[in-house]
Amino acid sequence: MRGVGIEEIEAARDRIKGLIRRTPVETSASLAEIAGQPVHLKFEHHQFTGSFKLRGATNAVEQLSEAERARGVTGASTGNHGRALAFAARRAGVRCVICMSALVPRNKVEAIGGEGAEIRIVGRSQDDAQEEVDRLVADEGMVMVPPFDDARVIAGQGTLGLELLEDVPDLAVALVQLSGGGLISGVAAALKARKPGIRVIGITMTRGAAMHASLAAGKPVPVEELPTLADSLGGGIGLGNRHTFAMVRDLVDEVVLLSEDEIADGVRHAYRRERQVVEGGGVVGISALLHRRIRPEGPVAAILTGASIDMDLHYRLISGENVDLMREAG
Ligand SMILES: *Cc1c(COP(=O)(O)O)cnc(C)c1O
Repeated sequence: MRGVGIEEIEAARDRIKGLIRRTPVETSASLAEIAGQPVHLKFEHHQFTGSFKLRGATNAVEQLSEAERARGVTGASTGNHGRALAFAARRAGVRCVICMSALVPRNKVEAIGGEGAEIRIVGRSQDDAQEEVDRLVADEGMVMVPPFDDARVIAGQGTLGLELLEDVPDLAVALVQLSGGGLISGVAAALKARKPGIRVIGITMTRGAAMHASLAAGKPVPVEELPTLADSLGGGIGLGNRHTFAMVRDLVDEVVLLSEDEIADGVRHAYRRERQVVEGGGVVGISALLHRRIRPEGPVAAILTGASIDMDLHYRLISGENVDLMREAG
């Protein structure tokens, strides 16, 4: 068996039980009408810290040895993973240092500091921040918890798949966000172990789709990172990728790429019809159904993966404004 298997995902479920929220699954009548099939939405944006990243981070932190716990955890993520790692570490009583560059916006710094992490501002790029993480690992023996390419993290994210199948036993198609591939690797491994016929479709944005480009190339390749409404889906998969590239290649049936306009419509639909505030990266399953990019042949599920959207941006989108972040970035 390549990558992470069902045994590790079941062990993760038992390990993080009570430390994460078991999020609800709701049906969507308006999307069912469009899809011609029952549509289920997993409200993972209601997870503690606002995203599923808490599952993987908690599964990693809870497996630290006594010696590792004493030295603490570190990482360079300024987004949902950083927040989740900070939360999981504080709960476990473990020191957490998140390194970030001086260019990271203040609201992100505050969100992570608010979860109790020590913030270390270094340099002016993500690479500078990662260098400081590497130094903390080498000099102080801290443990780096990566955002996706890590067996403990993948197994933690896979627990979401187990819950989904418990709540939707007749599930035929799962629409899952695809960025670094930690979420979809874990969820696909869980779903296909339990019910091999389930189709797992990866959804991401056209702008800077690193895993999609890597699958086409047959190996991990770098892509240019561009401003997108689905900022949680940005970034590369790592040229030395160890787990998620192979797992996505072997387990994911299809990948769908979305335009910025399609993502914006997903944010609007989530708000107006489902009454939920969801970030751009969190709505892509909804977007794919809305725009009939997928024609499911049975009950379908999408995951609302995160809530961290800038509220001014959200307001502009739901007011109908045509937001082009590429133009705004200049
Ligand atoms: C990290 C993230 C994703 C993508 O997960 P990967 O494991 O990197 O593929 C999707 N949605 C949200 C909200 C995220 O924070």
